[in-house]
Amino acid sequence: GMRTRAKKQADGSYVVKGSKAWITNAGIADYYVVMAITDPDKGAKGISAFLVDAGTPGLIVDKEEDKMGMRSSDTHGLTFDDMKLPADALLGEEGKGFVYAMEGLDGGRISCAAISTGIAEHAMQIAKEYSLQCTAFGKPIAKFQGVSFKLANMSMYIDAMNLMLYDAAALKATGARCSKLAAEAKLLASTHTTQICLDAIQILGGNGYSKEYNVERLLRDNKLMEIGEGTNEILRVIIGSAVLAEK
Ligand SMILES: Cc1cc2nc3c(=O)[nH]c(=O)nc-3n(C[C@H](O)[C@H](O)[C@H](O)COP(=O)(O)OP(=O)(O)OC[C@H]3O[C@@H](n4cnc5c(N)ncnc54)[C@H](O)[C@@H]3O)c2cc1C
Repeated sequence: GMRTRAKKQADGSYVVKGSKAWITNAGIADYYVVMAITDPDKGAKGISAFLVDAGTPGLIVDKEEDKMGMRSSDTHGLTFDDMKLPADALLGEEGKGFVYAMEGLDGGRISCAAISTGIAEHAMQIAKEYSLQCTAFGKPIAKFQGVSFKLANMSMYIDAMNLMLYDAAALKATGARCSKLAAEAKLLASTHTTQICLDAIQILGGNGYSKEYNVERLLRDNKLMEIGEGTNEILRVIIGSAVLAEK
């Protein structure tokens, strides 16, 4: 669906026109990697990547998004208003931008899996400590199976998340493509962390619904991990295609 165009000029430079919504650290970054269509007839093979200095004329940082979570991370749109780029702003080869983006996304998805796993560990820690301190019917709520079974599920999924996360990271570190494993790691971690945060809120009862105890923030922060770097639906598309392509 990309519409941002980079038109090559006679002197080899480019003029970029278009926009991109939802850019993490826009307005803060010194440099941006911008993807744009250099050859509209070639589909994904007509996309190129450019390294853009934040001070480039024509690069406009749009309004800040007022987000549900991850509120300590700034997010803005970017507009490219006839932004002029020198020929050497091109990253790698013309027409290879999509390939570079996909390779970058594999690493990004492993990072998302790591973020979710960390959020899950934090949520479980809060829930565990609370369940040992809070008493109901004469004993710590941790002693009720209804509570300890939630902690057991959290622990099981966190261990699985860590295994898959490190497996994907180890494969990436060899230099091999790891698209399926990276997508699986992110899908597993982001999905189960949302449930873990909900269960942690439940263990804290009414206090879980309060900002004071921090678990509601973990839920809001993790929701992004089900959306950014490819939604969980798109991850299933990628994993499903990889499964069908396997011999
Ligand atoms: C806080 C935040 C920070 C971000 N930072 C960056 C950034 O730094 N750089 C960057 O490039 N992007 C960034 N993004 C963008 C992010 O990667 C996209 O929002 C995300 O990939 C989803 O794309 P979309 O918003 O266009 O949703 P859409 O593609 O419009 O999807 C809408 C819904 O339709 C579903 N859907 C779409 N296609 C299919 C399909 N084929 N099968 C099934 N379901 C489908 C999706 O899963 C989703 O549920 C950021 C987003 C957020 C929210």
